[in-house]
Amino acid sequence: MIELTGIKAGYGATEVLHDITFRAETGKITTLIGANGAGKTTTLNCIAGILKPTTGQILWNGEDISKLSPAAIVRRGISLIPEGRHVFPDMTTAENLQLGAYTRKDKAGIKRDYDWVFSLFPKLKDRLGQLAGTLSGGEQQMVVVGRALMANPELLLMDEPSMGLAPIMVEEVFRVIKEIINQGKTILLVEQNAALALETAYHAHVIELGHIVLSGTGKNLLKNPEVEKAYLGL
Ligand code: ATP
Repeated sequence: MIELTGIKAGYGATEVLHDITFRAETGKITTLIGANGAGKTTTLNCIAGILKPTTGQILWNGEDISKLSPAAIVRRGISLIPEGRHVFPDMTTAENLQLGAYTRKDKAGIKRDYDWVFSLFPKLKDRLGQLAGTLSGGEQQMVVVGRALMANPELLLMDEPSMGLAPIMVEEVFRVIKEIINQGKTILLVEQNAALALETAYHAHVIELGHIVLSGTGKNLLKNPEVEKAYLGL
């Protein structure tokens, strides 16, 4: 379980997160929804160690990771899939995937995860030798998710994985999210597509101006009148 308590963080003198307190349970999908600029990416960056909170605690399976380096956090089984599709454009699909496993030594486990990534994204098999920069947007997103899975993370932090994708690819991303969870992993998902995120997530938290203002199950928040008005366009 990942548990944030009283997190404050920001950029320079500007505090963006004022009091972030929530948890994401092991083996479940938890989603953070909120308007542009509310602090969702900033929250994920704090968990991944890219940004250090000024106050508060981030407990991962009982250990406070809030002062650890990003590399130490990756070693503890946390992978961030950042916003935007950051493939290494001049490397092939296969090389991009292999990079995800570069810290691992368990050859059998790497092979198993490589096969798993291809079962999740069969299309990537036909693209192994292609430079990642020439893949379609949807294919690049598959590579980015696949690369993160090659690190064999316990917790995946996903920042807007469906952004800018055609509707059919958005469905594909959510299908894969459910399959990842079926493998016992934990997902913290930030999404603009609040309806889909709330339908998919077990728990959900609404972030407004750096505060968590509402928490509940995804299903309950879908029916919440304030959420309907502010995030579901109803
Ligand atoms: P979006 O949905 O638009 O990505 P978000 O909820 O993820 O929004 P953040 O990206 O966390 O929001 O940004 C929160 C606030 O912090 C915004 O006001 C943003 O302008 C500011 N901010 C983000 N990154 C930086 C940075 N590197 N330097 C200064 N301010 C930043």
